[in-house]
Amino acid sequence: MSSFEIFERSSMVECDEIEPKLYLGNLDAAESGETLKCFGITHVLTIYMFPITVPDGVDIETLFIDIEDSADCDILSSFEKSNAFIKEGQEKGACLVHCYGGVSRSATLVVAYLMKKYQIGVEEALRNVKDKRYCACPNAGFLSQLRLYESMKYTLDEGNIDYKIFCLYHLGRQVSSGNNFNAIQDYLRKFQGKTFDGDKFKCRKCRKCLFTQKNVVPHIQGQDLYWNNFAQQVTSEQSKTLCKNSLFIEFLPWISESHTSLTGNIHCPECSTEIGSFCWKGQLCFCGATISPSFKMNESKLDREFSHVPNVINDLITHHVT
Ligand SMILES: [Zn+2]
Ligand SMILES: [Zn+2]
Repeated sequence: MSSFEIFERSSMVECDEIEPKLYLGNLDAAESGETLKCFGITHVLTIYMFPITVPDGVDIETLFIDIEDSADCDILSSFEKSNAFIKEGQEKGACLVHCYGGVSRSATLVVAYLMKKYQIGVEEALRNVKDKRYCACPNAGFLSQLRLYESMKYTLDEGNIDYKIFCLYHLGRQVSSGNNFNAIQDYLRKFQGKTFDGDKFKCRKCRKCLFTQKNVVPHIQGQDLYWNNFAQQVTSEQSKTLCKNSLFIEFLPWISESHTSLTGNIHCPECSTEIGSFCWKGQLCFCGATISPSFKMNESKLDREFSHVPNVINDLITHHVT
C-alpha cells in the first residue's frame, strides 16, 4: 500500500465518543490499529456484511452481526446480544460500535443500548447520539423497530402482538425466500413453552385441542398484515375494524407439512382431517388483505370452547372470531 493510500485510509477514520467508553464510528475506525489504541478500545462490535480484519498488534474482543442496512431487515433480534457486549466493553475497557459508515446500523445498536441502560425513549436516546455524531440516522425500518423495543420496555416480549407479527413476518421471509426451513427452529426456541390460555379451538372430528385464542393472528379489514403499530391501530380512538372473514393463526410446530414445504394443506395431527391450508409466502384473505406467512384454518372443521381472559389483546382477538 502506498503512503498516499495510507493517508487516504487514515483520513477516512470516523470515531465519535457518545459517552465515556462508548464510541460510534465507521469501518475504517475499526480497522485502524492507531485509532483503537488511541481510544483504549478493547471491544469492537461490527454490524456489517463481513467481519473486520483485526489490525496487527491490537488485542480486542469482537462481536460480528451480519445485517444489511435495509429497512426490512430484522435488527431488533440482535439488541440483547449487542447490549450485553457493549455493557461488557464499557466495564472492561471501551467499546467501538461500527458498521460501514457509522450512520444507520451501528447507530441503531447504540440507541437501543442507551434506551435500555437509561430506560429512556427512542427520541431522547437518538438525540443524545446525534449530539455526538450528527450523521447518526437509523433507517426508517430500524427506527420502527426501536419504537417497538421501547413499547416492550426494552425487552423482547413474546406476548406482545406486534412483536409476534414481526417475528412471523421475518420467519416467513427467511423460509420463503431461501427455503430456509432451519429458521423454524430458532423461531420455536423463542416462542415455545409459552402459556396457552384463552378460548380453545378443537378438531371437530377427534376433539384434539389444536390451538388457543392466543395463537390467532388478527388483521385489519382490507389491510395487509404488518407488525408496525398494529396493536395501536386497533386500540386507538380511530380504531380500525378487524377482519372477520377468515381465521389465521401463527405458525405452530404441529403444522408438520410446513416444516418442509412452502405451501400445502394443514391436517389435524391426531386424526389427519384436513383443517386448513398454509403458504409461507402468504395468502389473500377475502377482504383483500395479504397475510404473510399464512396459516389459514377452516372454521367449519373446528369447535371453539370459550373461556374469558381479561386481557386487552385477547379481548381484541375475541371480537375477531365470533
Ligand atoms: Zn382431529
Ligand atoms: Zn381479511
